[in-house]
Amino acid sequence: MQSSSYQDPNIRCIDQLDISELPNGRTTRLLVSLVHDGIGRATRIPVIVIKGNRAGPVFGVTAALHGNELNGIPVIHKLVENIQASAIRGAIVAMPVLNVPGLVRREREFRDGTDLNHIMPGIADGNEPNAYAYRLTSRLMGCLDYLADLHTASFGRVNTLYVRADLDDPLTARMAMSQRPTIILHNPPADHTLRGYVSSVGKPSITVEIGDPHVFQPQKIRRTLGGLRALFSQMKMLPKRPLKKGPAPILCAKSRWLYTDRGGLLQVIPELAQVVEEGELIARQVDIFGDLVREYRAPNRGVVIGKSIDPVSPTGSRIVHLGQLAEPGRFPHAEEQATPQAAET
Ligand SMILES: [Zn+2]
Repeated sequence: MQSSSYQDPNIRCIDQLDISELPNGRTTRLLVSLVHDGIGRATRIPVIVIKGNRAGPVFGVTAALHGNELNGIPVIHKLVENIQASAIRGAIVAMPVLNVPGLVRREREFRDGTDLNHIMPGIADGNEPNAYAYRLTSRLMGCLDYLADLHTASFGRVNTLYVRADLDDPLTARMAMSQRPTIILHNPPADHTLRGYVSSVGKPSITVEIGDPHVFQPQKIRRTLGGLRALFSQMKMLPKRPLKKGPAPILCAKSRWLYTDRGGLLQVIPELAQVVEEGELIARQVDIFGDLVREYRAPNRGVVIGKSIDPVSPTGSRIVHLGQLAEPGRFPHAEEQATPQAAET
């Protein structure tokens, strides 16, 4: 077993990731320096490069850009454990934690409270989070041809295993489908996210939302790992393997969060991945005496992508992330066998 740690002097520290200088047919661990704290300690991003002997695509897999979203980390660990460099064409660049200060503090945001996924690609001469974001994108993302950015739900909420992707782009749609999530949400890349930035420089990207915050969920981790391996096969980076069996993903054309308009204690009724009908009861809210203050009903038919599990719900709290089912034919690049009957597992 290889011993390695964030401080291990045997792990090479560099300032700029350059895949071309790394040996072929090897898995290389690196630390890439980004910034320094007030007493001069470097904040470094751990990077694992699995580089094959044959030229091919460079595929980035990143996790924990939100520091409390952990399920992507063991996905990356298992990828590194299971994929031999000699077997692949091209390279996989795996980064198990992008928000090092957030992970250390068990927090979603950067250390000053900024959401890094709202300020990409950062600003070269900007403030602390902007400088961090800028160096993250300029020192680490330049060598990538594709990206899968791994996330989870936020505190107090739970998610299905779902993918956010631009389904109007044929290649991105195929990347999303080969992941075989429970749900795929059509979501043109928003400004200032990491996926948005990488897509904007012409590199197809998806976001994989893997369940719940600050836990390891073995089944969702396994499914994500299987999805990434299928994706690498489709890219001809790994030998072809048959597509995973199981329900086809539910396709959503768009989505919205529903919010409480009263304060109180909230109980959300539908299960993850459940299809609710227009007018169906989705949540009950009681006051501290237990008396009902409000019932919430679905404004339209849709599928539950994520939901609140936090009972303490002031006015304006999230209830359900409701996906609007795509009309048949809306996303031809993602439609083989799509059906709204997938079950959450
Ligand atoms: Zn996230």
